[in-house]
Amino acid sequence: MKALVYHGAKDVRVDQIPDPRLVESDDILLRVTATAICGSDLHLFRGKVPGMEAGDVLGHEFMGIVEETGPAVTKLAVGDRVVVPFTISCGHCFFCNKSLYAACESTNPAQGTLLNRKRLRPGAGMFGYTHLYGGYAGGQAEYVRVPMANVGPLKLPEGLPDEKVLFLSDILPTGYQAVVNAEVGRGATVAIFGAGPVGLMAAACARMQGAERIFMIDHHDYRLAFAREAYGVETINFDQYGDPAELLIEATAYRGVDCSIDAVGFEAKGSTLETVLTDLKLEGSSGFTLRQCIAATRRGGIVSVPGVYAGFIHGFMFGDAFEKGLTLRMGQTHVQHWMPLLLERIQQGVLDPSAIITHRLPLEQAAEGYRLFDGKLDDCRKVILMPGN
Ligand code: NAD
Ligand code: ZN
Ligand code: ZN
Repeated sequence: MKALVYHGAKDVRVDQIPDPRLVESDDILLRVTATAICGSDLHLFRGKVPGMEAGDVLGHEFMGIVEETGPAVTKLAVGDRVVVPFTISCGHCFFCNKSLYAACESTNPAQGTLLNRKRLRPGAGMFGYTHLYGGYAGGQAEYVRVPMANVGPLKLPEGLPDEKVLFLSDILPTGYQAVVNAEVGRGATVAIFGAGPVGLMAAACARMQGAERIFMIDHHDYRLAFAREAYGVETINFDQYGDPAELLIEATAYRGVDCSIDAVGFEAKGSTLETVLTDLKLEGSSGFTLRQCIAATRRGGIVSVPGVYAGFIHGFMFGDAFEKGLTLRMGQTHVQHWMPLLLERIQQGVLDPSAIITHRLPLEQAAEGYRLFDGKLDDCRKVILMPGN
């Protein structure tokens, strides 16, 4: 089959590789009909996350048609159309019983996503996300093996095109979990850092939950313009205002917003003197948006972090967070937990995640898709790949 294969930093290619096969009795084989490139793939693509090996197949946002089922698969049959969560979870361990699917302790045979805590049980395995998360082959491919098929894949009703439901695999639940963690409700003021796919899904969900004012911060005007148009947000370009938190404080009667969402993560870019000083030797500006979130949030407010962080970050303003009595919530998304509700919202027409897609490419052009999405070229917001087209 054809699959998007990692060869090294900034070097991914569509190669011919052996077809996957069923391994465990509750596996299915999926024929992929649509798959997307995620901001999380970019960390791997740029060589920023350890544990990638040449030959690894990328991709954790995908859906398709069940091609084959193992003997213990009871919930699905050949021919079913499903969308698959990026977290691989067993459904019955200590954490899965609490609906904390991303913390599932049964699906990641690897160790070592944490600094110096090798005895702590690892969290869930993930598709296409390095050997730190179990080394499962990803879904940017014609076919993919899906383990724990009685727990993860969600069967789809007829009549909804792939584009409307594909993002149930990750970014829609991620945006929603960020908003739930931030306790966004009627009348809330929210600041969302990052107008990428995750930030945009968070904006859509914040609107749905009744937020009164949504501020969105980025430096790509085309992304901010879309967010203004689609979700009625107030935008700040951080290239023009080095310290957006100051603007947010001013715009909220010098209190700060009720909650902030960091939809950027450890590869944030920043332009203030503060960033230059603290991150002198770093390529990115690790911690920049987290500092901005802490600075922009009112006393007693919440900072919610869906953006991915790894290892240490610089200049964590713990004193300010303490003084303001902030709550911090973060982490990988417990996708299985949110999928059914969000599917309902899509069916009702309350959410249409497909609105953010700008590029639809055949799988053969996946490397070009990475180049566009990584470079934010050609006004790229979200790329989907369609194997077999
Ligand atoms: P993306 O790269 O398309 O978007 C990131 C956006 O942040 C870009 O538009 C960029 O210009 C902007 N940005 C950079 N520096 C900024 C700054 N200082 N202030 C404001 N904006 C800034 O990626 P994405 O797909 O939207 O993903 C965003 C983050 O969410 C990534 O870190 C990704 O790994 C993470 N993620 C987490 C989960 C989860 O389970 N928690 C799931 C999916 C994605
Ligand atoms: Zn993702
Ligand atoms: Zn589990």
